[in-house]
Amino acid sequence: MTKPKIVVLGAGYGGLMTVTRLQKMLSQNEAEIVLVNKHDYHYETTWLHEASAGTLHHDRVRYAISNVINRSKVKFVQATVENIKPNENKVVLNNGELDYDYLVVALGPESETFGIKGLKEYAFAITSVNAARRIREHIETQFATYNTEKDKKEERLTIVVGGAGFTGIEFLGELTNRVPELCREYDVDFQKVRIICVEAAPTVLPGFDPELVQYAMEQLQKKGVEFRIGTAIKEATPDGIIVAKGENETEEIKAGTVVWAAGVRGNSVIEKAGFENNRARVKVEEDLRAPGYNNVFIVGDCSLVINEETNRPYPPTAQIAMQQGVVCAKNIVALLKGQETQKFVFDNKGTVCSLGDDDAIGIVFGRKLKGTKASFMKKVIDNRALFMIGGLSLVLKKGKFKFF
Ligand code: FAD
Ligand code: NAD
Repeated sequence: MTKPKIVVLGAGYGGLMTVTRLQKMLSQNEAEIVLVNKHDYHYETTWLHEASAGTLHHDRVRYAISNVINRSKVKFVQATVENIKPNENKVVLNNGELDYDYLVVALGPESETFGIKGLKEYAFAITSVNAARRIREHIETQFATYNTEKDKKEERLTIVVGGAGFTGIEFLGELTNRVPELCREYDVDFQKVRIICVEAAPTVLPGFDPELVQYAMEQLQKKGVEFRIGTAIKEATPDGIIVAKGENETEEIKAGTVVWAAGVRGNSVIEKAGFENNRARVKVEEDLRAPGYNNVFIVGDCSLVINEETNRPYPPTAQIAMQQGVVCAKNIVALLKGQETQKFVFDNKGTVCSLGDDDAIGIVFGRKLKGTKASFMKKVIDNRALFMIGGLSLVLKKGKFKFF
């Protein structure tokens, strides 16, 4: 008898959580499990702002997928998913095709540019290890070459961060720790550096606790960040950005580096595959299946789950992606055994936003935290994510232990 074939697309938080749970719950005879990912490594997307600023080496934010899968149960395929044909139970890869009995789509997010002109060409986005490496190298090059240029253009030392959501703020936290190091290394006067955060909403971290937001802003301002609140980026150019000023006017901000951190959408494969979607995110059924497809599950940033209390979607986070991975694995096993699937219920444990390696703000189990306590908690959360997927050995290899 042929074994049912489970194909999982994406080895991020949602995909790896699903696979590591499936490999614990199923024997070799019960199913064939195939994991597909673009690279042979997993990266901690939640640490990419550190690699982008250069405060953490990119090798620290990734690990080999082979470290956490049981290769006697899971076949790993390194490939890029180009399309899914859900009516034919097929996945199209850059190097072939795969068929499946059960599919889990966990391809993660893409940067949302809202169609703003020039962003794709002239701005960076914190989306992967390779993107983080490019940002770090670009910023370092600006500092390294500043003194070697005849005209010493100071714009070269201006870094614009678009968006003051959690990604923008966490990146600024790292950047403000990294810039003094770069100044020392390349003999650059710190006073010449500008770090400008442009946020369209009337506040940074819209919707977050105002007292903690105030703390975060003050801490970052002390380290040199200029906030341009209530200001929307309209265009990116080779020389910087154009922002809206008043009703009809615009202003140019010249900058050597523009990092766009103003939002995410789901993976474009979702749109190509023809799933009903909202900005490449599929509003999944209660048990995480795609509407209309009994054998397709969607987890992580490609899925959309409604918070029944607010009637709005939960923000896409690693926390929800990992919880979905657990339920998705259980539901696949239930289907294999002819049992009922279970409803996914998000258990929100809180949010912690780092402000560099040594500072943070957060609300955890309803308690407000800031400073070293919050920073400690952030590292506990980072280590917990490693533990959930790779156990203690992965925490010992990749964990964060500099608590104070
Ligand atoms: P990911 O973890 O991004 O994984 C997607 C995987 O799919 C990757 O391995 C990718 O290489 C692979 N892939 C993509 N496209 C293809 C393709 N076409 N073919 C093959 N493989 C492909 N959330 C929190 O809860 N807490 C935090 O502190 C936090 N901090 C963050 C900090 C930053 C800087 C950023 C950018 C995000 C942060 N988030 C945080 C959000 C969180 O990272 C995402 O919600 C989470 O990564 C989503 O998990 P996922 O499994 O859907 O996708
Ligand atoms: P976001 O959507 O949360 O924030 C984007 C910000 O950009 C918003 O404040 C928005 O007003 C602003 N913006 C949008 N268009 C703009 C424009 N034209 N000009 C200037 N500003 C503009 O996106 P994010 O910060 O990338 O976060 C993505 C997801 O990842 C969220 O769900 C977030 O909760 C999660 N995340 C969580 C953490 C954490 O828990 N520590 C860290 C990073 C990201």
